[in-house]
Amino acid sequence: MKKYNVIVIGGGIVGLATALQILRKNPQVSLAILEKEGKIAAHQTGHNSGVIHSGIYYKPGSLKAKNCIEGVNSLLQFCEEKGIGYKKVGKAIVALSEEELPRLYELERRGKANGVPGLRLISKEEYQEIEPAGHALKALYSPETGIIDFTQVAKAYAEEINQRGGVILLGQKVTQIYPYEGATIISTDQGEYEGDWIVNCAGLHADRVANLTDKHISRKQIIPFRGEYYELVPEKSDLVKGLIYPVPDPKFPFLGVHLSKTMDGRIEAGPNAVLALSREGYRKSHINFKDIKDYLSYSGFWMMAARYWKIGVYELYRSFSKKAFLKSLQRLIPSLEENDLIPAEAGVRSQVVLPNGTMQDDFLIHSKDKIIHVLNAPSPAATSSLSIGSTIASYLAF
Ligand SMILES: Cc1cc2nc3c(=O)[nH]c(=O)nc-3n(C[C@H](O)[C@H](O)[C@H](O)COP(=O)(O)OP(=O)(O)OC[C@H]3O[C@@H](n4cnc5c(N)ncnc54)[C@H](O)[C@@H]3O)c2cc1C
Repeated sequence: MKKYNVIVIGGGIVGLATALQILRKNPQVSLAILEKEGKIAAHQTGHNSGVIHSGIYYKPGSLKAKNCIEGVNSLLQFCEEKGIGYKKVGKAIVALSEEELPRLYELERRGKANGVPGLRLISKEEYQEIEPAGHALKALYSPETGIIDFTQVAKAYAEEINQRGGVILLGQKVTQIYPYEGATIISTDQGEYEGDWIVNCAGLHADRVANLTDKHISRKQIIPFRGEYYELVPEKSDLVKGLIYPVPDPKFPFLGVHLSKTMDGRIEAGPNAVLALSREGYRKSHINFKDIKDYLSYSGFWMMAARYWKIGVYELYRSFSKKAFLKSLQRLIPSLEENDLIPAEAGVRSQVVLPNGTMQDDFLIHSKDKIIHVLNAPSPAATSSLSIGSTIASYLAF
């Protein structure tokens, strides 16, 4: 059986960044990453909006606020060192009615408290100079917000992990975890590994992996939410210069359907947030009965459904109606037409729902007896990955 000082479960951007920060802090340790897929970044890391969030939305003092602000700086420094491309295209959060203004001002307050550089409220006229096709009553503008390809970042983390002696073992689905003489044995479908420290970064399956070690954590469950995108036809990509977001609904942890430029010059429109029928269901037709059974038998799911059913029904309607999706986008760019939109790839968000039906807003990391579980790492965890990694690295002692 192979033995390591540290075993990280999950080769997404959080697992990779965590492994990297552990190796940077402790160059002497042996470390392996166990990833169930045949490649890294196969799930959330490879299916997202590619926005380097600047820290506007998050409650001051929360892990999201701290890790995002620190994470942006570490990420950009890493990209400079490795020659990874990113672009500071700027982001506007637009208020479209008088009722949205107090929420816009609250976002300004939060962003400023978090130290988001250059953040400022701008008038309708100034906004129109930045986004000539856009419409707003007022906007909150973050000139430093950028875009990047997180799969490329994950690959660069993996390269440095290898250079530092860490190993990434692919095709290794973790099926069992049990204690053994002060250490922990992990079984995968390929073999057994012994680790002194275990870090669970299994993304959409983090609750299931956690349950292999501690049934009490099962009181919180991950509910998957599909995020569907359209893309603007290339002839219309000039309609959007940077990133255009609506003022989000504060009751809901998602940011709302937005328009975002990608590194290769496309304009993505989305994502919505629809209950997924599979934790890894990238198409509407992907159904996993175990995943559905798991959430239907979770009381927290029903509490959540009671709380959010109205918005849930609307999201479902918008998922099947291109016209409804277009209507949301026309609030941001009034001249958009149905023919300007073509379907694009979807992503699935991993979202912890608490037994009382609340969606866990902040990152959630659980640490006990040399086993650490990253249970909730939704957006902006890709942006924050190096900072989340160093937070976790600080828990480990050798
Ligand atoms: C639609 C969408 C848009 C987003 N937009 C942004 C954005 O613009 N900016 C931003 O910062 N963040 C964004 N995010 C969030 C970001 O993508 C995630 O927070 C981040 O990728 C989470 O990384 P992760 O490593 O925790 O999870 P993942 O990338 O899902 O990785 C988890 C890994 O664990 C592996 N695994 C699972 N179970 C096992 C097992 N039993 N054994 C071994 N391996 C296992 C999986 O195969 C997977 O590779 C977005 C997310 C989505 C879904």
